[in-house]
Amino acid sequence: MKRFTCPHCGEPSFTPLQKALAGSLRSRGKPCPHCGKRCCNSMASIYFSTVVSLIAFVSIMAIYLLSDNSLPYILIMAAIIAGSLLLNFLFNMFFGKLVQPIRIMN
Ligand SMILES: [Zn+2]
Repeated sequence: MKRFTCPHCGEPSFTPLQKALAGSLRSRGKPCPHCGKRCCNSMASIYFSTVVSLIAFVSIMAIYLLSDNSLPYILIMAAIIAGSLLLNFLFNMFFGKLVQPIRIMN
């Protein structure tokens, strides 16, 4: 399995799942299992999630305005929100790299 390198100690200590759970640059990040310093996903992750959320928002607005908002459409809207969250998660799992969080935490 592909592993991701910690920006602090250079060890390939993050699994894809751990990286996906590390959060964005604005979060606190996740401590490296090797050196214990915090890491999070890079700007690429924020750009990707911004684009995905924008597409999801536009689709939901389109469905809201064009449909009669009966149950099937509400389910489709919920599926779009769930899908966009899942896409962000998968992106963090397989793409982008780990960086140091911007916030300084002790
Ligand atoms: Zn480390």
